[in-house]
Amino acid sequence: MTETVFAELYGPEPPAQAPNEGATSTCLAKLVAGGARAEAAPAPAPSAEGCGIDAPVRLSSIAVTGGDVVSLPDRPLLDCEFALVLADYIRLIVAPLGQAMLRAKVAAIETGPGYDCRTQDRVAGARISAHAKGLAVDFVAIAFADQRRLLVERPTGADEASYFRAIRSAACGWFTTVLGPGADAFHANNMHLDIESHGSSGAYRICE
Ligand SMILES: [Zn+2]
Repeated sequence: MTETVFAELYGPEPPAQAPNEGATSTCLAKLVAGGARAEAAPAPAPSAEGCGIDAPVRLSSIAVTGGDVVSLPDRPLLDCEFALVLADYIRLIVAPLGQAMLRAKVAAIETGPGYDCRTQDRVAGARISAHAKGLAVDFVAIAFADQRRLLVERPTGADEASYFRAIRSAACGWFTTVLGPGADAFHANNMHLDIESHGSSGAYRICE
């Protein structure tokens, strides 16, 4: 059948779908089914540095056990694949350990913006940051329903400090990189989490 005949019979061919639209909607459906509030986001403008997100989503909150909701007031812009890992980590580690160790519900987590088009340490020519692909967040503070606010940089009490150590150690099992606070200029006051693969096999983890 020639193209002309095809068009006469069926109308013009539908425009090709954007490459990752399908992947985004499948992942987003999974994210939302797991209790997250998230929406598809426009892809950041392509840049010379090679920044970009495969399946961009904005993550607003995560439902945890008991129907409670942990909100993410910074609504980070993330690759959906990373958002799934982050949502599970919050649901299975951050919220239940808060309940167990501090007897408090985690109400909100300040994560920073997620996506940031930059190289590591903003050095020209350096490797591109995991933030530039939407594969990272930086935990700055955790707010609890009882009005306590844990600053990652400087947890106030002994209980808060051991809670933070516990969620940080557990993070090493969920993410490929866990750094800070104090790792570098960008992570002086926060904990960086990403799922970028390291090493030739991709199995190497950085957990400092
Ligand atoms: Zn970071």
